[in-house]
Amino acid sequence: MNLIRELELQNQELRRLQLELDAQRARYFDLYDLAPVGYCIVSENDLILEANLTAATLLGVDRALLVGQPHKRFIHSADHDLYTRWRNQLLITAQAQECELQMASQSGSLFWVKLIGTLVQDGSALAALRIVMVDIGKRKQIAEELRISEERFRLMFDRATDGIVILSESGKLLSVNAAFARMHGYTPDEMAALHLRDLDTPQTAQGLPEKLARILAGEALSFEVTHYHKDGRELLLEVSSSLIVADGQRLIQAFHRDITERKRADELVRELAYYDPLTRLANRMLLKDRLIQSMLAGQRSGNYGALMFLDLDNFKPLNDQHGHGAGDLLLAEAAKRLKSCVRQIDTVARFGGDEFVVLLDDLTSEKAQAHSHADQVAEKIRSLLAHPYVLPLVAGEDGVPQSIQHHGSASIGVTLFLAQESTQESILIAADLAMYRAKDLGGNTVCFFDAQMQLEHMTQTVLRRDLRNGIVEQQFCLHYQAQLRGAGQITGAEALLRWQHPTRGWIAPTEFIATAEKTGLILPLGLWALEAACKQLALWGKRPEMAHLTIAVNVSARQFRNNDFVDQVLATVARTGANPHRLILELTDSFVMANLEDVVRKMSIARAQGISFALDDFGTGSSSLTFLKRLPLDQLKIDKSFVQNILIDPDDTAITKMVIDLANNMGLGVIAEGVETQAQRSYLAQMGCDQYQGYLHSRPLPIQDFEALLAQA
Ligand code: C2E
Ligand code: MG
Ligand code: MG
Repeated sequence: MNLIRELELQNQELRRLQLELDAQRARYFDLYDLAPVGYCIVSENDLILEANLTAATLLGVDRALLVGQPHKRFIHSADHDLYTRWRNQLLITAQAQECELQMASQSGSLFWVKLIGTLVQDGSALAALRIVMVDIGKRKQIAEELRISEERFRLMFDRATDGIVILSESGKLLSVNAAFARMHGYTPDEMAALHLRDLDTPQTAQGLPEKLARILAGEALSFEVTHYHKDGRELLLEVSSSLIVADGQRLIQAFHRDITERKRADELVRELAYYDPLTRLANRMLLKDRLIQSMLAGQRSGNYGALMFLDLDNFKPLNDQHGHGAGDLLLAEAAKRLKSCVRQIDTVARFGGDEFVVLLDDLTSEKAQAHSHADQVAEKIRSLLAHPYVLPLVAGEDGVPQSIQHHGSASIGVTLFLAQESTQESILIAADLAMYRAKDLGGNTVCFFDAQMQLEHMTQTVLRRDLRNGIVEQQFCLHYQAQLRGAGQITGAEALLRWQHPTRGWIAPTEFIATAEKTGLILPLGLWALEAACKQLALWGKRPEMAHLTIAVNVSARQFRNNDFVDQVLATVARTGANPHRLILELTDSFVMANLEDVVRKMSIARAQGISFALDDFGTGSSSLTFLKRLPLDQLKIDKSFVQNILIDPDDTAITKMVIDLANNMGLGVIAEGVETQAQRSYLAQMGCDQYQGYLHSRPLPIQDFEALLAQA
């Protein structure tokens, strides 16, 4: 009974053990199959005998089909040799062996593994190899990425155009790139032994400890340094540097850019941008800059400043006669004299051409005192610039160098300004206006700006604006004043511009011609007048009773000087169909003198086409007899200022008589303008001038009225 009981107990114990074993085995297979590594038993002749689930998954083959396959089949063909060597090593040494290679799954995709092999020994006979496969794809990938990024960094470091240096905390050069070495004239190896101290110039070295400290404290700094090149010359470098921490080590990384050339170029550009190359004076831009500075300072101090505009009086004739070389010498000499008259803090500038500007800074808060000071300086300048100039060694007409004595002077306009009350623009305009007044007064004069100039200037500005508009909006028309012969036969008319101003009504040309000339607006305006007159001629040409009438058109100097002038006249005549033999152009003698040859040439071309020329306002200008003889003229016009007085003033009578005789002797026609009384007309006829125009017969009239006048005659 006891035995039976014991057997039962043993059986129970066995069953319990069996259950436990089963549970353990199940746990083992779970572990075995689901292990994170592949596990294979491979026979001595490389056939797979057994594999866990992970191995089958890695190789992409059903576990049942894996058994019996050669293991080498799953090794990437490029690694077959390596695998064979590894296997042999394992077999020979019987020691665990590792190797890293690529395996290929059933589907052909490659993956990196680490194989760890051991022998499974059964007694003395060799049974099999146990191979553990660890998937190292991820690790490999990270390593590869690291390698590529390191290589990239190396490449960037070496190929960078900036010089890069890694420094120790104390400033020792730990690593330099090729550009940094090249920049300093060393090889990278030579530089390895150097300290920043060896490169820094004394002034840079001075600031070094403080900079290193700041960088080490974490500040990213950009600054300029000077280093010595190996050959001793100085380099100007732009540095940006910052702290880096690598492997717990604090290092300084610094990028260097060589800006020596750039700085030099910058300076040259600055020089070109702010200074006049001929006189080395400040140019327009710098002057304006200084004026702004001066105004800012003036705003604080409340002191007056003064600005002077200077124009050399007879610069142009010197330039024309002796060439630009002489002109340049004069400008340089004038600049030198100018500078000698002012304090260090004042600015002397060349504004272009023969114009100079002097800025007297920070005078005093007393207006009278400031005025007197500026006046003294201006007078000093005026007198110094009026001293004779000896311009050395200018090539003369024969090419032999000679020195020239030149008598020059300057027109000086001065304005005082208070920063609070002015703008940069208003100051410049004021000085400019004062200078023009000085010029008008005959030059070699100092003129201060005053309120009257301001008023005139404003009127002019408005007039200019209105003129521009007027031309665009066609507010102009021509009035015709009859020209007569003998007792009252109308031979033609002078065309005179009239401006129908939108608010001011009719404006006479005396009010706007001068401004139109100054602004150049006379060019479009004159062309318009010519065209209108030609159209009128063309209309009259079609009416037999009017076809004989002439029209005289006034031409201003500015128009005539224009190179295209004659072409424009001929084109207008052709386009409108006017008879050129009925067209008279009136010139004044004021400008004819300037370029006689050119004037004669232009007149001759027009005359060849039948156009006539009259010399307007004769006697008021400065015509000389010689030049009168050379001009291909058809008619002289006796100015109305003489005509008005012929019955009263014996001088005017004598002049009128002389003009008439002159015309007759030269075979020119002569016409008197401004004839207002019958007595004047008779007297003129008596003296030999039977052509006239004037209020006696008719004022300038709109075309309809003029034609009505014709009909009455
Ligand atoms: P101008 O060519 O000498 O014209 C004669 C001026 O004398 C005209 O003045 C005319 O109206 C005026 N006049 C005519 N008869 C008498 C008279 O009996 N007594 C008085 N006291 N004056 C008389 P206006 O029309 O004011 O023209 C003034 C100047 O304007 C002209 O002088 C001429 O130089 C200029 N001008 C007129 N039209 C034009 C033009 O189309 N082009 C250019 N460039 N200048 C023009
Ligand atoms: Mg005229
Ligand atoms: Mg006239």
